[in-house]
This record gives sequence, structure tokens and C-alpha cells, in this order.
Amino acid sequence: MEIIRIPRVMRETSKGHLLHGRSIGFVPTMGALHEGHLSLVRVSKQENNITVVSIFVNPLQFGPSEDYNKYPRDIEGDMEKLEKEGTDILFLPEKEHIYPEGFSTTVEVQGLSNRLCGAFRPGHFRGVATVVTKLFNIVSPTRAYFGQKDYQQTLIIKRLVQDLDMDIEIVVCPTVRESDGLAMSSRNLYLNERERTAATVLYKALQAGYEAIKFGIIEKEKIKGVMHEIVSSEPLVTEVQYLSVYDPLDLEEPDVVKKPVLLAGAIKIGSTRLIDNILVDG
Ligand code: AMP
Repeated sequence: MEIIRIPRVMRETSKGHLLHGRSIGFVPTMGALHEGHLSLVRVSKQENNITVVSIFVNPLQFGPSEDYNKYPRDIEGDMEKLEKEGTDILFLPEKEHIYPEGFSTTVEVQGLSNRLCGAFRPGHFRGVATVVTKLFNIVSPTRAYFGQKDYQQTLIIKRLVQDLDMDIEIVVCPTVRESDGLAMSSRNLYLNERERTAATVLYKALQAGYEAIKFGIIEKEKIKGVMHEIVSSEPLVTEVQYLSVYDPLDLEEPDVVKKPVLLAGAIKIGSTRLIDNILVDG
């Protein structure tokens, strides 16, 4: 596996591959890699000649009181996992190379960025859209791979690529879960044993919402009620930021559910923020 740290070198390397007619699959990550990340790498490897993975904990997408400094980092472990998967290139830029002194341009996808997670993390999706734009410009991928676990992020990136005429195919891959249903996340490392057990409550609530819809319930308030009852029965849940039924295209909350529909939620277990979602299709 080739390790590239300098954006200019990454750009030149990509150009060389593209000139030779090779497709480039790109998996952007913040590291502390788990099976969720590796599933994206595997799909990219199947669909492209070259797979580039980036690891960059992006300061721009963390709020001032969020966990940028304590976000899990494990470069040695990550390298080993990526090597095992047959990753061709690991792009590992320094903060100073991505945001050099004087950096003053940001990218914002209006509307979508203010709902759900955006309402609780002001500026988060501006940080995401900005870094993804920069990484796309540096890596020049043919296809880029994102997880459905961050559903709102996939919508925002698809919008960004369409609005700014980027010639990149966005591929969304299914959420990889632990055997008890908990969506894999680097932040799960923050959970102690009791919290880890309690954390499954979010997926249980989403599943109950899914069952309610399958059963024929169509009123949003009723479906929401079913889901909220489950999360509020767990004493280690310290906050329910949002948990509802959404239109999967614009993230509006319909009063009456019409499939396809998105069930999505964000809760805190202790001080750890967890998100998850399920898509109920037609
Ligand atoms: P992150 O390192 O959290 O920024 O995630 C990097 C990429 O991996 C994003 O596209 C995430 O949506 C994706 N990802 C994270 N967790 C999972 C998961 N459990 N299943 C599938 N994809 C995931």
C-alpha cells in the first residue's frame, strides 16, 4: 500500500492512473476503522482499478464543544486493516496541508444541511461539504463510497456533486451492524460496558417504527410515539435529539407516511452521541 501525505503528490498520482485509463474508487474516512469502513473499501475494490482511502479527522466539521481532540485515532491499526483489504493508496494529509494559513473558502449545501443532525451541530455539514470538495479535487475519483449510516451526509454529498457539476459517481453502501443491531461507529469506542448494551435501544426503536409501518400504521405521530416510548424506557439515554419519520429525499417530516420513508434518530447515551436510520421502501 502506497502512503501519500502531500496533496500535490496525491493529485499527480491520481492523474497518472486516470491517464492510463484506470478508474479510481475513493473512500473518505476519519479513521479508527471498523467493518463499516472496510465494507466500503471492498465494494470500491470490486468496482475500480485503484482504491484510495483517506484518513483525515476534519476539524472543520466539529463544533467548539465537540470531540475533535478526543476523537479515536489508531493509525497503526488502520494501516494494517487497509493493507489486509488490498487498498492501493492511503491518503493521509496533515491538517496544515488541508487548511493552510489564510484558508477562507467553504462550501455549503443550503436547506438539507440545517435539518436532523444539522440542527444540533451547526456548521457540521459545511465542514463536511468543504472537506469532501477538497478531497474530491485532490483525489479526482471516478466513484466515491459512503455509508448509509450517515444518510443525511449521503444526500448532501449527492446534492453537492450535482450542483457543482462534479463528474463523480456517489455510491451509498448499507449500514454494517454489530450482531445485536448496533450500527458500527468509531464513536462506539467511547461506550463503557453498560452503555454499550444500552446503545442498541436506538436500532430497536427504529425497528419498532419499521414494524409499525409494515403493520399499516401511517400517522407520523403514532410511529414517532412507538419509537420514543422505546428510547425513553432506557435510563442511560440522556438526550433524544431527533427521532422521527422523514421523506428520504428532502428530509421533511410528513404527517402521513407514504413509502419510501426514512426512519432516523440521534440520541445520547451518557455523553456519547449515536445516530442510526432505516429506509422503508415501497
Ligand atoms: P467516518 O470515518 O465516520 O467519517 O466514516 C467514513 C465513511 O464510513 C462514511 O461514509 C460513513 O458513512 C461510513 N460508515 C461509518 N460507519 C459505517 C457503518 N456502520 N456501515 C457502513 N458505513 C459506515
